[in-house]
Amino acid sequence: MQQRNIFAGPYLDRAGHLRQDPGWFAAALADERSRAVPVWNSRNLIAEGGAPRAVYVELSHIPPERRNDTDLILLGRYGDTNFFTYEIESPDAPPLPAGSRFEDLRVVAALLPIDEAGLLGYARAIISWRRRHRFCGLCGARTVSAKSGHVLVCSEPSCRNEQFPRIDPAIIVLVSEGERALLGRQASWPIGRYSTIAGFVEPGESLEDAVRREVLEETGIEVDRIEYHSSQPWPFPASLMLGFTAHALTTEVRLHDQELEDARWFTRADIAANGALLPPRQSISFRLIEHWFDAGGEARLRDMQGSAPWPQSR
Ligand SMILES: [Zn+2]
Repeated sequence: MQQRNIFAGPYLDRAGHLRQDPGWFAAALADERSRAVPVWNSRNLIAEGGAPRAVYVELSHIPPERRNDTDLILLGRYGDTNFFTYEIESPDAPPLPAGSRFEDLRVVAALLPIDEAGLLGYARAIISWRRRHRFCGLCGARTVSAKSGHVLVCSEPSCRNEQFPRIDPAIIVLVSEGERALLGRQASWPIGRYSTIAGFVEPGESLEDAVRREVLEETGIEVDRIEYHSSQPWPFPASLMLGFTAHALTTEVRLHDQELEDARWFTRADIAANGALLPPRQSISFRLIEHWFDAGGEARLRDMQGSAPWPQSR
């Protein structure tokens, strides 16, 4: 069965048809069950003590002047509850509900229930987009929120340029050659961590072009037999990771650019012997490594030591 990648999944009804319904919005504002996901300084609100959980706020806790359809962004229907997000635009830490703290989602995402991680990631991503698009890229006038926060429209009447939430596609690929898989590491990562090769898609490239180019640039390896595996939203700030597998045509590793500190071939026996500190289990990189490893048929990576999730420090 295909496992879910973190930040992905059908946990939410996005209810796009409600984004332009003022009557529904007024009713949702008045509904005391409605909740909001606050975002401050790109951080999400998390319960302290015990396993991390998301903390949501009642709309009545939001300042009245911000309880409107330009400051609140409709995320959708989560269970039977209307969910919004909003940004706390204060340079200093805001007052917090008892037992909660604002935390970088990268630190806690792998520890949250996967639906909550998805909801907080979605909120973080759309707030981040709005912060970066306060002005029109064509004429420089301020933008105003429309469609429950999902469009930013230029306020200059002669322009009216519309901007939609942007997503930056990036490929991530498990390159294999029989019993061996190609993994690399960046200098900033924890000691011993290795992961799959990744990079942003450039204008004018297909996904397959980007896979070939990134692997060649970063490791000197040429690949073919590129096949799609799965994808993962990565809201730091706006990536969509598109996961692939590929077969190596060459085997000599040469580090061409400065992206990686090291790249090397790992056999299944190397991985089984904890020869690499792998990424967290819910990440698409782990899933790609698992897909390759388990195809060997001897053991399941998930059942083995050395694949435990570890907190990401950045
Ligand atoms: Zn404009």
